[in-house]
This record gives sequence, C-alpha cells and structure tokens, in this order.
Amino acid sequence: MLITIKPLKPTKIFIVLVLLSTVTFLKAQDHFVVKNATVFTGDEVIKKTSVLVENGMITKIKKRIKTDLPVIDGDGKFLMPGMTNTHVHAWMPALLNEAAKAGVLNVLDMAGAETFQQMMKNFKHSTNYARYRVAGYAATAPEGHGTQFGFPVPTLEKPEDAKQWVADRVKAKVDHIKIIVEPWRATLNHETVAAIIKEAKSHDKKVVVHVSKMKDGYKVFRSGADGLVHIWRDEKMSDGQIAELANGDFFVIPTILVGYKAVTAMAKKTEEVALKKLAWYKEEVKRLYDAGIPILAGTDPPNAGINMGTDLYKEIIFFSEAGIPNIDALRSATSLPADKFEMDKLGYIKEGFIADMIMLDGNPMKNIKDIEKINTIWKAGKKVKR
Ligand SMILES: [Zn+2]
Repeated sequence: MLITIKPLKPTKIFIVLVLLSTVTFLKAQDHFVVKNATVFTGDEVIKKTSVLVENGMITKIKKRIKTDLPVIDGDGKFLMPGMTNTHVHAWMPALLNEAAKAGVLNVLDMAGAETFQQMMKNFKHSTNYARYRVAGYAATAPEGHGTQFGFPVPTLEKPEDAKQWVADRVKAKVDHIKIIVEPWRATLNHETVAAIIKEAKSHDKKVVVHVSKMKDGYKVFRSGADGLVHIWRDEKMSDGQIAELANGDFFVIPTILVGYKAVTAMAKKTEEVALKKLAWYKEEVKRLYDAGIPILAGTDPPNAGINMGTDLYKEIIFFSEAGIPNIDALRSATSLPADKFEMDKLGYIKEGFIADMIMLDGNPMKNIKDIEKINTIWKAGKKVKR
C-alpha cells in the first residue's frame, strides 16, 4: 500500500505536540530515583541506599546512583515492596481501589462469581487498583459453606466429580484453587477433597483450603494441599504434627483479625472472650512460625466488616505482637505471598522486579505500627492517588 503524507494543519500540529508532551510526562512519571532510603528488599534491610526506577521497573539498587532523572529524597524514610492481601472477597472495582490506596497492590480472592471476577482482573494495569488474582468458585458440597451468598455455585458430591469441576475452573482461567471444609454445614468428604487436590496439581494450580478444625487442617495437608486460608480454631495442634507441616512445604494464612472479630460480630460473645481467643490465635500462630512454617497475611474482607486495605496492617501488627520478628511480619505481606503464589516479578525491591513500592515516614523494623505512616505508594513506578 502506498502512503502519502500530507502536511499537517497548525491545529493538528498543536494536537500532536500536546499528545507528545503527555507521553513524555507519563514517561517521566515512572522514571525516578529514591536516594538514601532504608530499604526492605523482601529479604533483608539495607540502610542508606538508592533505588532506580525506569519504565516502571526497578533497574538498579546501589549506595549512590548518578542520574538526570527526578530525585526523591529517601533520607529518614523506609522503602518496602507493595503489599499483598492473601485472603479477600472483592465484588466491585472500588474495593480494588480501597486496597491500592493502602499500599495493598495485590489481592488474592478466595471465592466469588467467575465471570464477574474475570472483568475485575482487567484493572490490573490501572495504577489506582490492586491486581486481582482469583480462585473462581470455591469447591464445596451442595448446601455447604459458600453456597449461601446469593449467586449459584457449582458443587461436588463425590471424588468422581473432581475432574470436571477442576477442568471448569481451569477453563475459567482461575489463578488458584480453593476448597472449603466446614462442618458447620454440609461439607465435602475427605476423599473428594483429596481428589480435587490431585486434579488441581495435575493442572499446576496451587490449592488452598478453608478449615475451622485442627484435624481437618492436618488431613488436607496430608492430602497434598499447599496451604490453609484460615488457622483452625478448636484445639491446638501437637508439636509432632506441626513438625510434619514444617517439613512439607506448607503455608498458613491465619486470618487472625477475622477470627478475633467473628467472636463478637458473629458469635455475639463479649470483648473479654474475644481477647482471650485473640491471645489463643497469636500463640498458635507463633508455634507454627517457630517450627518454620511460612505465615502469610490475609484478612478475609468483607467478613466481620473488615476493609480491603488498611485493616491488613492490623494482621501484620498481630504477627509482631505474637512474637514474630518485624522483618518476618513484613515478609508475610510482601515477598512470602509472591513466593508461595508464584507472582512473577512482584513482592520484592530487587533489580528486574516491578516497581511496586511503599515509602513510609517511619521504620517498621523498630516499631511495626509505622507501617501505617504511608508517605507515597507506587504501582509499577506510578504514584497511586490517595
Ligand atoms: Zn474467605
């Protein structure tokens, strides 16, 4: 095809110039260097260092970086990776915005309506919205937990149902598989749970399980699940069983906040009873941590009135109060979720990673509550509007 280029009219030249300057402005936005900050990389803390961001990616981490790019003074500031909430239920885009504004740049949905979730995933490139990874429908029995929320849910009754059910989730492009074992309603038997886990593994999907009883937690671990989306709440696990979990590449998302809040909100018990339960959760989580089991931060919003964003800080603070060192409390919401759910180039401040970063006016290594002191949030190098 022959292309002839006509000279542009002055108005058109003006439009082209405006467009060009917008492009340059957008480019400048995700090109900068943060100098002299204390940086938590997701693994370790480096004092007085600089981080170069180009095209939304972290391209250099060095004491001194010479550049003509805009400089952000990080002196007295703490720079950490963007956070992930590993247990949410989001049903509208505004909730992804609520998360992003709190520095929670990734949320992992643990059961919802599939077609709707796929639409919500389109927000992943929008600066002011958290990336959304989903389980799709959770595996549950007819009339089981998860069927009471007003949208139809495909259920399973027997191990033979697992193959088709998992194939349907894979077809619906889910990121991980979630199973519900909740005996307060009709629930899946363990043979069916084991069959779902096996099928999911054959499709290379991570499998996480909702349990409320310790024995169920142990059983699904033995059946090959990757982790739990709640800690049990009925009885303590034996040291021997915890040691088995620790040797088995198994993680736990304890969701202490929702467990604690549910005592007063749903079970209608006194605050005194709730605080006792909170102490119990912290103790059990610390036992898992001490054995070497990865502990991940998730809060299960909107249950018990929990929000998608700032409430995640409470979970991290609970971990610290439980006796988990602050660096590992920070890992629970940054690098560990990225590792365990294989989130590519996320969760770390490292060269070659996406520039998802939070700058704090404080130091959560010294005082964990400083994670609330947010100065700036960048998603892929662009400032999140707060
Ligand atoms: Zn949940």
